[in-house]
Amino acid sequence: MARSKFLSAFAPLFIGAALLAGCSEDNKVNDANWAMHGRSADEQRFSPNTQIDKNNISELGLTWSYDLDTTRGQEATPIVVDGIMYTSSAWSKVQAFDARNGNLLWQYDPEVPREWAVRGCCDVVNRGVAYHDGKIFFGSFDGRLIALDAKSGNPVWTTDTIVDRDKFYTITGAPRIVKGRVLIGNGGGEFGVRGYISAYDANSGELDWRFYTVPGEPGVKDGAASDDIIEKLTRDTWNGEYWKQGGGGTVWDSMAYDAELDILYIGVGNGSPWNPEIRSPGGGDNLFLSSILALRPETGEYVWHYQTTPGDQWDFTATQHMILADIEHEGAQRKVIMQAPKNGFFYVIDRETGEFLSGEPFVPVTWAKGIDKEMGRPNIVKDAFYHKTGQAWVSSPGPMGAHNWHPMSYNPGTGLVYIPAQELEFPYIADKDFKRSDLAVNLGIDLAAVALPDDQAIRDQVRKSLKGSLMAWDPVKQKEVWRVEHGGPWNGGTLSTAGNLVFQGNRNGELVAYDATNGDKLWSTKVHTGIIAAPISYTIDGEQYIAVMAGWGGIVPLLLGELSHNDDGPIANRSRVLVYKLGGTKKLPEPEPVTLTALDLPPQFGVESIQAGASTYARYCSGCHGDTAVSGGVLPDLRHSVAITNQDVWEKIILEGALTQNGMVSFAKELSPQDSEAIRAYVVSRAYADPKRKK
Ligand code: CA
Repeated sequence: MARSKFLSAFAPLFIGAALLAGCSEDNKVNDANWAMHGRSADEQRFSPNTQIDKNNISELGLTWSYDLDTTRGQEATPIVVDGIMYTSSAWSKVQAFDARNGNLLWQYDPEVPREWAVRGCCDVVNRGVAYHDGKIFFGSFDGRLIALDAKSGNPVWTTDTIVDRDKFYTITGAPRIVKGRVLIGNGGGEFGVRGYISAYDANSGELDWRFYTVPGEPGVKDGAASDDIIEKLTRDTWNGEYWKQGGGGTVWDSMAYDAELDILYIGVGNGSPWNPEIRSPGGGDNLFLSSILALRPETGEYVWHYQTTPGDQWDFTATQHMILADIEHEGAQRKVIMQAPKNGFFYVIDRETGEFLSGEPFVPVTWAKGIDKEMGRPNIVKDAFYHKTGQAWVSSPGPMGAHNWHPMSYNPGTGLVYIPAQELEFPYIADKDFKRSDLAVNLGIDLAAVALPDDQAIRDQVRKSLKGSLMAWDPVKQKEVWRVEHGGPWNGGTLSTAGNLVFQGNRNGELVAYDATNGDKLWSTKVHTGIIAAPISYTIDGEQYIAVMAGWGGIVPLLLGELSHNDDGPIANRSRVLVYKLGGTKKLPEPEPVTLTALDLPPQFGVESIQAGASTYARYCSGCHGDTAVSGGVLPDLRHSVAITNQDVWEKIILEGALTQNGMVSFAKELSPQDSEAIRAYVVSRAYADPKRKK
């Protein structure tokens, strides 16, 4: 009794000492593990393992694989802690494996309500879990932050991160852990939400602090860490009744942490709606849209910001992966943060002060003529302001980004950053008749006007003009050193290793290893599906493993449809965890060929009905079922759906929610039976136009 009293009297002291020690907190980062999302808090995604190198890589082979119970996109970076792999798959399901042999230790399904799918822009993906002190943390697509016991997979606590469940907030990003706090933001920038990041106590799940990236209603205090800086800095950069549309600025993916400077970095998303005339009439920079924000991890206090795209109106998020490194700038070593955001410039920023050091385009950039070195601001060309000109602005890059969420990596040995880069132009046209929707994206862009024309030759030409590559970028010289073209966009994230290798999966169904110095292709293996996620590396008993989540999906196949295809048609989703080591001999089964049902189509509808349907389809359906009703292969191709042959069946799906369990909700709130029938008319017309049908 006396002994326990003695201990409890001193307990606060012990806890205090542990807190003071800060970095002694066991985050499990060591050479064997891949214990954090970006392997280490600087998010370099650089494995120190040297066992696999160019001399033995020909012996690299599959050692285990695990078939996932989903055909939606896989975007997660697995983590490995002391021989156990924790990862997440579509619909926010979490799995734990023996990382040596793939034995499933446990799995956890948060049972995301399938009707939540319509609330996301970009597939029901999840980009990974976090580990801290015996717990696994992840965000569910419907906005819950959940802590699981790492040993059993049993839930320890759950908290709701969404401030207003009527709004279309989601979570797809991986949480990060800093100083015993779980950090998580949300998605929803296309639907009219207000962005923020939240910090929760890792032990209890209690909210510690929250920081809103954009101002709310004037005169209404949030009681958040952002309250003061919003009045001091951001509110005056907005105009009109900006708070009514949410404003955007969601923190949906990237973070990094510098323990020495004690600064947390977060990437902030695009404006909502995109069209600034609707969002903030009269202009303004609209802070902190499209910015890198530096905050104190214990309080959420503002330190600095750097806005990559002032007054963003092109969906140029600054949520892309950020890497901390110490590199040379004008002859001196600088502590920098590097980002290649959607807008096409590669940024090197002083991470202590936020000072702009350099920024150069890594793909063709048409919306700005360079960055003003003194001001650190882009020189935006006049025609890019499509809301002022009333004309279409064909921009490079477009909203899919010169680089999207696919993680890049840094090799301190070569000094190069390996970027999954892409080139996709996009025509921005202001929607002259914008009406807010509670069920569809709210962009203020005329999506019907940007749909592809019927002419197959033009469609093929546009598709073949899209590019994607692995690009090795020198951040000191701000120039490309080498690149490998993949024949199209939306390729995997990258992994760098001390074996002087770069690993990347791609849209062509391969996982490839390149020489980090010159880009020589050293090894590749067929995986029978597109890879978009990033590989990792870990060791067990000195043996090095390479692992990746395979499975095509995400916004490009959902929205772009035919433009996401390769020459053979849509890219298949075969979702798996794949793990390789030297001497691995396992073989993947040969895939079954995809067969399509031949439909007896109903007679063509009238032109008026088809035209009305085209515009409604573009607004409500294209985001998931693909531009001009051609699927990218992840969600059903409506042209081949038997439902288009029967008005009653079609209406039951569109207006009564017959397929809600698959994520297809009822649109009766905003669509009439006439609208539903017009969409059917349009899809039937697209089925008739299918060149494969004519043959
Ligand atoms: Ca966006």
